[in-house]
Amino acid sequence: MTDTPTQLFIGGAWADAADGATMPVDDPATGEIIAHVADAGAKDARLAEDAAVQAQEGWARTAPRARSEILRRAYEIILDRTDELAHLMTAEMGKPLAEARGEVAYAAEFFRWFSEEAVRIDGGAGILPDGRNRMLLSRRPVGPCLLITPWNFPLAMGTRKIGPAIAAGCTMILKPAPQTPLSSLALAEILKEAGLPDGVLNVVTTSRAGEVCEPLLRGGRIRKLSFTGSTAVGQLLLAQSAQAVVRTSMELGGNAPFIVFEDADLDKAVDGAMLAKMRNMGEACTAANRFFVHRSVAAEFGRRLSERMGALVVGPGTRDGVDVGPLIDRTGRAKVEALVADAVERGAQVLVGGRAPEGPGCFYPPTVLADVDPGSRLMGTEIFGPVAAILAFDDEDEVIRRANDTPWGLVGYVFTEGLDRALRVSERLEVGMVGLNTGLVSNPAAPFGGVKQSGLGREGGRVGIEEFLEYQYLAVPVS
Ligand code: NAP
Repeated sequence: MTDTPTQLFIGGAWADAADGATMPVDDPATGEIIAHVADAGAKDARLAEDAAVQAQEGWARTAPRARSEILRRAYEIILDRTDELAHLMTAEMGKPLAEARGEVAYAAEFFRWFSEEAVRIDGGAGILPDGRNRMLLSRRPVGPCLLITPWNFPLAMGTRKIGPAIAAGCTMILKPAPQTPLSSLALAEILKEAGLPDGVLNVVTTSRAGEVCEPLLRGGRIRKLSFTGSTAVGQLLLAQSAQAVVRTSMELGGNAPFIVFEDADLDKAVDGAMLAKMRNMGEACTAANRFFVHRSVAAEFGRRLSERMGALVVGPGTRDGVDVGPLIDRTGRAKVEALVADAVERGAQVLVGGRAPEGPGCFYPPTVLADVDPGSRLMGTEIFGPVAAILAFDDEDEVIRRANDTPWGLVGYVFTEGLDRALRVSERLEVGMVGLNTGLVSNPAAPFGGVKQSGLGREGGRVGIEEFLEYQYLAVPVS
């Protein structure tokens, strides 16, 4: 860990916080402090903003091919450094090394994808209907951006924003979550090595998010906010962005339904459930939160899922053979414990797990609850832990109504072997993404995002770069 930068990255240089403040980063598997990183305040934020604003004009004029090649080089450096980055992520966030390696590949892929998109930004030209004017349409970067990321995918949530911002020609300030600043600082180091000009990316690590971000959003020089995090914080940032009419993209929370029909292939459904529930220890916005299983197969599904969940090995992410690492911190674990206790009080059966172990680290065992009461608190909030809550249903209309009965709409999972039903149910779900007979939807080439209170805009896919581009229309008289 000693080689990873721990200072702020502003204008292409490493610097301490202006007031010298630092903050500790700990390993959730042991509680031990692994690093102290610079803890930025408002003055540092202003310096980062100055750097991003100054770099914007020149960066916007850089040839798309040059931007593309920087991303391509960074993609290759990330892959070369897979092991080191995976260890870093496991140390600051807890996920098992195998999953961390998977995230490194996923994160790198956003750079490759957007290196390919950087050279495909299109415009348009034509004669207007009245025949008197030509219309020339060009695409321009939206301007300096503020990128705010959560702790659950420390590398990928960064590259998913930085990639399209670089491709579009925007400069940026990245503010990572205070639990996982090291992955973002490592990314800055990689992009510098890949040739990114000074000031294009600035990284401001801080425990004082409000003090750092609010003036940036209200000040009028930052033109775009791309946020991934909870709906509550997203709502606050939308309000702050309103004053200077800052363009926003919001990737917020979810409450994913996972629906298993009576005609589903149960092996596929259980495989899908393991992925949709256990990726990242359940600490994912895409995590299946409510398992609706047809009454005729609910007991069998619960039995098979419990068998698989119970066989997972819980422990520090660096240990060989570990499938499930610690949760991010004690607050996160206490939330999971309280949600399980509430469900059990309301009559849920614990099929496996259900009790946090004694000792250091924020571990929680894979848990399956059956006969969950629909009024349980975990039905209306993201569990963000390895807990599968099963409810039985009787018919299609009923399950669609229950699945949609939430303010969120990020993703849903549907398991059925019937083509008509698969399409009909998917189309009626109020979500931005559907996993049809699969428990994994995330892919850099697909537009990721939700409806309702799960967010605004999409990341990845062909549309991902659009979030960082404006149109300019030129009217030119036909002579
Ligand atoms: P969070 O508490 O909303 O924090 C997310 C980020 O926002 C952190 O960097 C946080 O820093 C920052 N933040 C908090 N208050 C702020 C403020 N007033 N001004 C500026 N920044 C502020 O979420 P989290 O607990 O880190 O992450 C989990 C949430 O993210 C879940 O709801 C999950 O569903 C969602 N998520 C969504 C997606 C998606 O693509 N839709 C992907 C991953 C995660 P501080 O911690 O210092 O406050």
